[in-house]
Amino acid sequence: MADVATDPKIMESIVSLCKRRGFIFPSSDIYGGLASAWDYGPLGSELKNRIQRFWWRDMTQLHDDIVGLDAAIMMHPRVWEASGHIENFDDLLVEDTVTNERFRFDHLTDEQRETMTSPAGNPLSQPRKFNLMFRTHMGPVEESASVVYLRPETAQGIYVNFKNVVQTSRVRIPFGIAQVGKAFRNEIVTKNFIFRTCEFEQMEMQYFVHPSEDEKWFDYWRGERMEYYRRLGIRPDRLRWKEHGPDELAHYAKTAYDIEYLFPFGWSELEGVHNRTDYDLSRHAEYSGKDLTYLDDQKNERFVPYIIETSAGLTRSVLTVLADAYEEERVGENDTRTVLRFHPDLAPVTVGVFPLVKKDGLAERAREIERALREDFSTFYDQGGAIGRRYRRQDEIGTPYCITIDYETKENDTVTLRFRDSMEQVRIPVSEIAPRIRSESRAYRRVGS
Ligand code: ATP
Repeated sequence: MADVATDPKIMESIVSLCKRRGFIFPSSDIYGGLASAWDYGPLGSELKNRIQRFWWRDMTQLHDDIVGLDAAIMMHPRVWEASGHIENFDDLLVEDTVTNERFRFDHLTDEQRETMTSPAGNPLSQPRKFNLMFRTHMGPVEESASVVYLRPETAQGIYVNFKNVVQTSRVRIPFGIAQVGKAFRNEIVTKNFIFRTCEFEQMEMQYFVHPSEDEKWFDYWRGERMEYYRRLGIRPDRLRWKEHGPDELAHYAKTAYDIEYLFPFGWSELEGVHNRTDYDLSRHAEYSGKDLTYLDDQKNERFVPYIIETSAGLTRSVLTVLADAYEEERVGENDTRTVLRFHPDLAPVTVGVFPLVKKDGLAERAREIERALREDFSTFYDQGGAIGRRYRRQDEIGTPYCITIDYETKENDTVTLRFRDSMEQVRIPVSEIAPRIRSESRAYRRVGS
């Protein structure tokens, strides 16, 4: 059995399962695909939406000091001058002079950087700066006055709306603004499936605090964010912190920590928690000429708030959830099954409903039960093939519960409830299905290797 955490073959199996079962397809597949772009299919879009809802609920419903926002992707070009992205949002690009393969300079090893040799052992070109923002023009005339950028992070939409939110909602510092949306970066190297793509989605929350309390809130949000991944059902031993050294800090950051996940290709960033100081609001105040200070009218104090940012990738979270859930499990002596052990709140299908056979009214009764369950859960009805194969098909897409309707159902209105993780089966009355699934989901704990 493969060691799922680090075996690169697992990545291939996940990509192939995603395509085969309709989670994720190469973009423009019928034209041969577009490098680094991916489309989320029926199950993948459901999974992504569920992760987004989980995050949104966690931020805006479970924290009464956080409000939501949905800002435009295209913003006034001055935003990116003020934010420092036009000047600083660069990666250093180097090329293997023999194969022309491109690398990010900061992704090479110390030795490769010192000797200027590529992973293949060839000489590297001199590093040159490469701005990651996508530029386009708004309107029919391609002139410099019409240049706009696709946002490389969602955060700036929050900063430029700081004043609007303070003036229109009842928030008082400390408070946060949460946003989910697309971001675009012209990445030098895109690889590892949906891990690093040019078009991706972020889930960011910017928390505005008094400058004297930045460290306290930074520590608080570090704790909250790690807890969140545990609630999401991610295995704790595959999560760790990595602090940015002084030479790695972004131009706006005072302190920065990444939450890293042990992907099949190794430890890599999943989320950043940053202390952005008063850099962003001060710069936007300077460039827009607008007053972005905050007045604490109880203390009669005016100040520019510091910002603690939690910046998670939504599409990268989809990969994390898939990689974490994926297992090839040995069953008995000589059988294996592929199972996605999703948290029940994330699984694209919550309940599979099957009649044991189609005849003798079992299919009709199963349909009735499935229709009733639809009100509360996402369901899937399947009457084709042997029952064991139907269970396995649901295991492979991560369905946590399956219900089977058989001849006993006709006699006493009970069904078999089968659990994905343990494969255990219990007999329960039809009236108990919904409450039982709800209580099982609430109490769910990740099992497996
Ligand atoms: P890197 O140095 O790896 O390019 P970063 O440190 O610049 O990334 P941040 O700006 O902190 O990344 O972005 C916050 C989060 O957004 C990341 O933790 C990641 O989850 C997500 N993200 C950033 N770039 C990409 C991308 N190209 N594709 C998918 N997700 C991304």
